[in-house]
Amino acid sequence: MRKKIVAGNWKMNLDYNEGLALFSEVINMVKDEVTGQQTVVVCSPFIHLHSLAQLAKGYDKVAVGAQNASDKEAGAYTGEVSAKQVRSTGAEYVILGHSERRQYFGEQNDVLAVKTDVALKNGLKPIFCIGETLDERESEQHFEVIKTQLKEGLFHLSTEHFEQVVIAYEPVWAIGTGKTATAEQAQEIHAFIRNEIASNYTQEVADNTTILYGGSANPKNAPELFSQPDIDGGLIGGASLKSRDFTDIVKVFN
Ligand code: PGA
Repeated sequence: MRKKIVAGNWKMNLDYNEGLALFSEVINMVKDEVTGQQTVVVCSPFIHLHSLAQLAKGYDKVAVGAQNASDKEAGAYTGEVSAKQVRSTGAEYVILGHSERRQYFGEQNDVLAVKTDVALKNGLKPIFCIGETLDERESEQHFEVIKTQLKEGLFHLSTEHFEQVVIAYEPVWAIGTGKTATAEQAQEIHAFIRNEIASNYTQEVADNTTILYGGSANPKNAPELFSQPDIDGGLIGGASLKSRDFTDIVKVFN
């Protein structure tokens, strides 16, 4: 049985104290209210990672992740943070290839493939984001775009490494827009992704891969999205900044 995951992506929000306060609230709610087998991952800015990982100790349902890590291992790269440094904080996950990184920081599939390798080598589990833009969907290129992102970003991995990866399908037109993909649209792409994994690895590997949906997910639409056979949870932006909304999304799996 593949893992169900609800991951929060705080993006560049919350100062140090605000982040600790929100995370403490989330932990308290998860501890009291979450009864299922789902894993909760909070992906914070780098500045929070170590403190959050300390707070998460002893809660086996809760893990911490970064939102990016360098493609370089170490050295004279001013301002970069390495995968090894992220791992040393106690963080277990790292978001890679988020559409905001692709769009504003020019990250393309080739650099993301390297980032994935470096993250895995240093013991981090990538949450690898893929998804089409509105133009790409309207011109019916979405399957091709997803296929290329998978092939160029992930399918060079050995089976052993691939099994550490979580995939997040995030249609760019649904991120932060309040416009969610319908459950049918999301399921169609998730099934397509799983098929691509089966063709490149095996059906068993595909069946064991956790595939998250992201893009304006909230407590209202999460139940329908998460009930789709190939949707194994969500990557939550805006709604992860409110402890009640985020926990309500996590509780969909109770
Ligand atoms: P959103 O963001 O939930 O605010 O749309 C999702 C994401 O960017 O991961």
